[in-house]
Amino acid sequence: AWAKVEMGPPDAILGVTEAFKADKDPRKINLGVGAYRDGNGKPYVLESVKKAEALVDASKPDKEYLPITGLAEFNKNAIKLAYGEDSTPLKQGAIAATQSISGTGALRIGAAFLARHYPHSKVVYLPNPSWGNHTPIFRDSGFDVRKYSYFDPTTIGLNFKALKEDLASAPEHSVVLLHACAHNPTGVDPTQEQWAEISDICKERKLFPFFDMAYQGFASGSTARDAFAVRYFVEQGHQISLCQSFAKNMGLYGERVGEFSLVTSDPEEKARVDSQLKIIIRPLYSNPPVHGARIANTILSTPDLYAEWESEVKGMADRIISMREQLYNILTNDLKTPGEWGHIKSQIGMFSFTGLKKEQTVALAQKAHVYMTADGRISMAGLNSNNLAYFAESVDGAVRG
Ligand code: PMP
Repeated sequence: AWAKVEMGPPDAILGVTEAFKADKDPRKINLGVGAYRDGNGKPYVLESVKKAEALVDASKPDKEYLPITGLAEFNKNAIKLAYGEDSTPLKQGAIAATQSISGTGALRIGAAFLARHYPHSKVVYLPNPSWGNHTPIFRDSGFDVRKYSYFDPTTIGLNFKALKEDLASAPEHSVVLLHACAHNPTGVDPTQEQWAEISDICKERKLFPFFDMAYQGFASGSTARDAFAVRYFVEQGHQISLCQSFAKNMGLYGERVGEFSLVTSDPEEKARVDSQLKIIIRPLYSNPPVHGARIANTILSTPDLYAEWESEVKGMADRIISMREQLYNILTNDLKTPGEWGHIKSQIGMFSFTGLKKEQTVALAQKAHVYMTADGRISMAGLNSNNLAYFAESVDGAVRG
């Protein structure tokens, strides 16, 4: 039956990890995957997560199914974290929400819901570039996937003028995917003033803002500050949709904890939307996993653990920011590596778009055992005081050729 099935290409990001694993050199560094590593290069389980998990275990919960839309308390606390407790639609009970299989699952539920119920358009605009999985998620959900200008390779920054032009000329009612903070892969975010202009354009063109917030807390170290764009759009009256992931900010990667939500007009409309979310989810996976949601909910609902978690998120963000500064200093001051490296410091979140060319990334892997995606994106979290100097020297070598 499968004789005509073609071999597919390896995943652009997970393929890097495979090459890294096969490399036997002790100096090897994997900057491909977007998972936080501590100062010793090891995966990091947050203390707040360990304590929350111990509380969950001590309560000896059963293993019954969750409802279709997941743990109700978790849903309430997850949207409070994103929208803020003062949010008007939150207080009105007008936000439809469901637990999801991390951020990817939230995107997929959202795309499926819009494909079925958004009456105006089947066109979605993604930033160019965007996280690689956005295209297949929307395409497989039946959307016509297009791009809006985002990154400017000459300045290694935001091409705001082209972004505005593209959104202003998008067909009315198109869906626009916006990275709420810590844009992946570029590490380049709009300023607050630029967000305000984007909000105005979305209003004028009647565009539907679809937020992906996979890194709340990771950009600035503050979950409230990182939610600025989401909260601002809601204050401006946009009925947004939002995808949240707790993979990065709680380090719950494999537990698959996320949330999808939609701002609706009132509780009655919310109830109808919730009912249709259930109808989409039930034949997909019936109901979500329970363990990670219990952990996340314990953190979000226990004041001590919440405070400890916020400080751990800040700790992760600060370590990344310090790696940015140190890398910049070594390249610019010590090695005098040709080129301008200011973007390493100014970029935001887990990733840096280095500006390294594809050939240079290939040379880095082959000669220096340093692995990154072919677009020159590095996960800053993969750097630490033990490998930073070696990494900078390897980049210097690759740039000088
Ligand atoms: N959106 C973006 C922009 C991401 O970078 C990621 C994680 N790489 C996700 C969504 C979803 O990740 P997950 O499914 O692990 O929560």
